[in-house]
Amino acid sequence: MARFIFITGGVVSSLGKGLASAALGALLQARGYTVRLRKLDPYLNVDPGTMSPFEHGEVFVTDDGAETDLDLGHYERFTGVAARSTDSISSGRVYSNVLEKERRGDYLGKTIQVIPHVTNEIKDFIRIGEDEVDFMLCEIGGTVGDIEGLPFFEAIRQFSQEKPRGECVLMHLTLLPYIKASGELKTKPTQHSVKELRSIGLAPDILVCRSEGPIPVKEREKLALFCNVRPDSVIAAQDLKSIYEAPLAYHREGMDQAVLDAFGIAPAPKPNLTRWEDVVDRIHNTDGEVRVAIVGKYTQLEDAYKSIAEALTHGGMANRVKVKIEWIDAEVFETEDVAPHLERLNAILVPGGFGERGTEGKIKAAQFAREKKIPYLGICLGMQMAVIEAARNMAHIGDAASEEFSEGVDPSNFTPVVYHLKEWVQGNAKVTRAKDDDKGGTMRLGSYDAVLTEGSHVADAYGTTNIEERHRHRYEVDIKFREQLEKNGLTFSGMSPDGRLPEIVEVKDHPWYIGVQFHPELKSKPFAPHPLFADFVRAAKEQSRLV
Ligand code: GLN
Repeated sequence: MARFIFITGGVVSSLGKGLASAALGALLQARGYTVRLRKLDPYLNVDPGTMSPFEHGEVFVTDDGAETDLDLGHYERFTGVAARSTDSISSGRVYSNVLEKERRGDYLGKTIQVIPHVTNEIKDFIRIGEDEVDFMLCEIGGTVGDIEGLPFFEAIRQFSQEKPRGECVLMHLTLLPYIKASGELKTKPTQHSVKELRSIGLAPDILVCRSEGPIPVKEREKLALFCNVRPDSVIAAQDLKSIYEAPLAYHREGMDQAVLDAFGIAPAPKPNLTRWEDVVDRIHNTDGEVRVAIVGKYTQLEDAYKSIAEALTHGGMANRVKVKIEWIDAEVFETEDVAPHLERLNAILVPGGFGERGTEGKIKAAQFAREKKIPYLGICLGMQMAVIEAARNMAHIGDAASEEFSEGVDPSNFTPVVYHLKEWVQGNAKVTRAKDDDKGGTMRLGSYDAVLTEGSHVADAYGTTNIEERHRHRYEVDIKFREQLEKNGLTFSGMSPDGRLPEIVEVKDHPWYIGVQFHPELKSKPFAPHPLFADFVRAAKEQSRLV
């Protein structure tokens, strides 16, 4: 039966709760325990799938097809444990479940209330799979004091009371601001945040305090005294150069020891941290730098492409080079020449995306990469852009386009080389979709197999011809154009097992030009860089030696 660790945040948002949770998960693994991490989000969307990346950052997709919070990406990158749809829940999902049950008559005769019906639904969620791991880590989104977070805090209060003593621990993350004028680290916001927690019946066992520098003994003692935790349970989370330093840094601060102490686990098993020592060594001991352009639409918010940025870092670690990302707004290329922006870069990546804005710029970036023989990786929409570019400029289909951007346009006015996918096979079942279906959760989502052509560039990079990758798309390259495109140099080197859905395209006569319909970035880890990203950065490194 699992022990439970709840992670909450206070004072301000964006303190890195997800990262602290993920790093703690990694540290418990290093001590030989099994873990699973979960995110409970107070917002009312049923899932983040319909939110703009500008609002919420990237949508992380699980193998079983859930569209989830980007923190699940951190959890996977740090622990290697594949997240499931049951590892992410929002108020929207909770209420939708409760209301569904109410309509079905499950609560017949009762008045449905936040306590106990909503809180019971949250507790049932927390419990899922509790007999599978040693530790279940549940992070509550938002900060204590938010109105919408209250049912979640109440649910973990009840949950901890219902469990036998010593089976639940609360870790609270706060900020210790440094006031330059007085040269002091301020503990008051943390005290207030803990007071706020106490007012709803929760008391932290461990305080993780974000601060620019170390916490002096005096402040540590003060925090312990006023917040009612042990001094060695006050963990300093200082700013780090790389997020991957977090497990070692938090271990030095005593985070995992404090957690095991709080559970009364003694003696604590010794940790084996070699995985993280190697990761940190690869980050700091590099030989040179490569510059990779990400030509996208949501470039003002780096969280929108979180997993891609991380996967590139992992690719750099595999090759012992530093990867410097140049964020370029694709729309720029609709008015400006591509060359001055891209010619000095070592590789070009066009990520996934939705909607027409910026797509002509992405197509120009794909063309530039192909013609100038700069390594190119097109992911999802980035693959579709590469296919449209090849159709227009290699196969001379001048009006090639995607149905996604041709809403209402007479089909006789363009050639849809990318079309709205209406039918596909999942396992043994056929999935069907119509144009006017709901938008939420209806894409081709989650893990699907692909078969790669022997001897192709991708098969070499993967070192196998059978892969499984995660998908999130509504549109698909039309197989009808395969022959015409292949004759002109764009090969289809990866297909769905039934041979109907193009999964990968590549340009033969090019050092590295690959488009993939799936999202390889979601499965990359610092200790196991994704083979495509490792090979892409290797190609970028070779290219950097040429310029
Ligand atoms: N908008 C495209 C589609 O739905 C690409 C999606 C993506 O890049 N994730 O097919």
